[in-house]
Amino acid sequence: MEMRRMNGCGGCSLLRMAIRSSAILTIPLQTVPLSRCLQRFSGQSLSFSLIEKRRLLSTALRSSSVPLSSASALHQHDSFPDSGDDTNVEISKTGSKVILKGLTFPELEKWAQSQGFRSGQALMLWKRIYGNDIWANSCEELEATPLFAFEGLNKDFKRMLGEVAEFKALALKDIRTAADGTRKMLFTLGDGQVIETVVIPCERGRNTVCVSSQVGCAMNCQFCYTGRMGLRRNLSTAEIVEQAVLARRLLSSEVGAITNVVFMGMGEPLHNIENVMKAAEIMVDEQGLHFSPRKVTVSTSGLVPQLKRFLRESKCALAVSLNATTDEIRNWIMPINRKYKLELLLGTLRDELRSKRNYKVLFEYVMLAGVNDSVEDAERLINLVQDIPCKINLISFNPHSGSLFKPTPEEKMIRFRNILAEAGCIVFLRWSRGDDQMAACGQLGKPGEFQAPLLRVPAQFQAALEASV
Ligand code: SF4
Repeated sequence: MEMRRMNGCGGCSLLRMAIRSSAILTIPLQTVPLSRCLQRFSGQSLSFSLIEKRRLLSTALRSSSVPLSSASALHQHDSFPDSGDDTNVEISKTGSKVILKGLTFPELEKWAQSQGFRSGQALMLWKRIYGNDIWANSCEELEATPLFAFEGLNKDFKRMLGEVAEFKALALKDIRTAADGTRKMLFTLGDGQVIETVVIPCERGRNTVCVSSQVGCAMNCQFCYTGRMGLRRNLSTAEIVEQAVLARRLLSSEVGAITNVVFMGMGEPLHNIENVMKAAEIMVDEQGLHFSPRKVTVSTSGLVPQLKRFLRESKCALAVSLNATTDEIRNWIMPINRKYKLELLLGTLRDELRSKRNYKVLFEYVMLAGVNDSVEDAERLINLVQDIPCKINLISFNPHSGSLFKPTPEEKMIRFRNILAEAGCIVFLRWSRGDDQMAACGQLGKPGEFQAPLLRVPAQFQAALEASV
């Protein structure tokens, strides 16, 4: 798989992967967002006035076979016309409206100024979109905010918003509640695709929203239901941010304050690094959603160059989905390891974390019966993470249809945990949450008729898998 050339765009790599790799996934090419690839291959620089941008987009959509879902991607790297800098503006798929939740505050401010309004108006708008107990999701809702009754938005500003700004990036399709109180929210995107977001209530008040970053996933981890979908497309910044906003808006009154965000839903977040880092930046803005950076965790299967960039540029927390202690097992259950081996992954973490103070990476380790749960695995894991400031979550596997794997029994998980703890590791057991509604870790999405291939089981594990059935 060719990951190094992605530069935040999966399209080119996916095209190459589809040709070269039989290991990673089967991709329905007609669903891959191609606009940025087309833009790159055409070598054209897009730098236009806002009006020209809209016209260009409409023309592009009329005259090309690029799916509508790619419209915002076409604009994600445009330079903002009036500021002369690299500000990105997400435009709706009709090409007529600016999508507000795709903007950081400095971008919103510059955009408001470019429309002839003061930055104070932008700040009022920002607080109404993201402020506690407001979460305005339409122009009309800007009026109905008693907290700001005396702090009026300029009438012309509101009129302008009504004409050229879009508040919504998602439409709620359903909320399903599992027996343990976990909520799975299903959202329909502008192009009709569906993503899932999970809210996990916690008695200690640490309620968490687990957001998706892609429709499907290209990584094809063998234990993951989402991976069976292949990658359909990246989510835009607005589509990611709005999952957190709607989780608070729709569920805070039932579950209490939602304080934590984990990027552990559908998709490999660092495969969509531009939009994910921007969404995380919006989420931690102190005047808006104001999540603590330590409580926003981005997870990766191990995309080493992107992981390095994330550690250098983001204030948020990082989780690495490890799940194996040898390259042999990891190559099988997480094919990304064929590109970025354990030694490179862990060596990079060791090097990068040396310069970070008070920072611990979280290793996630899904326990698969007979595959990665032996005493030897525990001992190898202790050696692998030596000298890396870390915490380890041992996660019980959540079965799904078509899966070869079975969960490690509870007593064996406890024994594994004890071996790590006795060696001085900070280690936690994480039991399954929400699995009766397919809301648990690794159970999100709907593969449909295009499915990534299951890989050949190495001979030495065939007996173990059969025995665990
Ligand atoms: S575990 Fe994460 S990275 Fe792996 S296939 Fe599933 S969603 Fe993708």
